[in-house]
Amino acid sequence: MLILGIETSCDDTGVAILRDNEVLCELLSSQIKFHADYGGVIPEMAARKHLENLLPLVNIALSESKISGRELDLIAVTRGPGLMGALMVGVQTARALSQVWGVPLIGINHLEGHIFAGCEGLKPPFLSLIVSGGHTEIITVRDFGDYELLGQTRDDAAGEAFDKGAKILGLKYPGGPEIEKLARSGNSKAFNFPVPLKNSGLVEFSFSGLKTALLWQVKKFASSEELQANMNDLCASYQAAIIEALIAKIRLAVKLTGIHQVSISGGVSANGALREALRREKGFTISLPELKRCTDNAVMTALAGQNRYLREGITNSEVIADPSLHEI
Ligand code: AMP
Ligand code: MG
Repeated sequence: MLILGIETSCDDTGVAILRDNEVLCELLSSQIKFHADYGGVIPEMAARKHLENLLPLVNIALSESKISGRELDLIAVTRGPGLMGALMVGVQTARALSQVWGVPLIGINHLEGHIFAGCEGLKPPFLSLIVSGGHTEIITVRDFGDYELLGQTRDDAAGEAFDKGAKILGLKYPGGPEIEKLARSGNSKAFNFPVPLKNSGLVEFSFSGLKTALLWQVKKFASSEELQANMNDLCASYQAAIIEALIAKIRLAVKLTGIHQVSISGGVSANGALREALRREKGFTISLPELKRCTDNAVMTALAGQNRYLREGITNSEVIADPSLHEI
């Protein structure tokens, strides 16, 4: 089965062509450098960049895979959740290609895509932790297509905690990789940051208090030199608190469900310290995506689309972008 995947939910334009589970071509155009000056993603600019990049990427992917559009068996596109303008570019392009080539089209929930990014080789049931710039949640995958949301964040996502923390520290956007880099030469026990809801007994996260604790700590320093002198330790301690919160809730979810296989995906799953800490855990096995599949990509959309199509066929012939899509 030949599948074209298209992902434009936020600031990455992703295109992939798969033959069954084999990736023939995988392309990603990151917009980070355009948004970095603003300290976050500008939705209008993201949509315009998708518009510029998407069709050229589709053409390159087809020629690198040595196929024509009409040979495809399926187009899978992310239809939500995400930024409205960004999603619309992907969905409308996919609809047009589907009509012109006469290829079936399937709309995919971005979160189902993330589930497929992290679960290679896993057989359900398993737990899926999605930790990105917009989401932090644990989902029970009873079977593919049969999902239950166990719990999520009450406020900020873990990636947002990295990004907002970095902003407080005067570091570049996106904050996760910056904090990780400086944390490597810092002492994670130098500052005692709170791990919110750690012992609440609930599979829920909260990161806004942690961000405020960082802000108060930074305000305590008398000068920017003092802040700089403590920068690596601050990054290491702040990162450690986020990691501790994530791992505490995985342990709880494992205990509550009795499911001992866990997959993780989303931008924060690229964090080296988190990956190491997860590999050291006893009590569950962890499945981690390759680094390039942690952040948004179209391989995950194509895999989720293929799986859904083989299970259900086309159930929704009119694919519509939905920025606040809930139902996976
Ligand atoms: P996504 O929303 O899945 O596209 O991922 C982007 C988010 O992942 C941003 O909030 C980044 O700060 C975060 N992120 C990316 N790489 C890392 C990393 N190495 N450590 C922590 N967070 C990261
Ligand atoms: Mg994402």
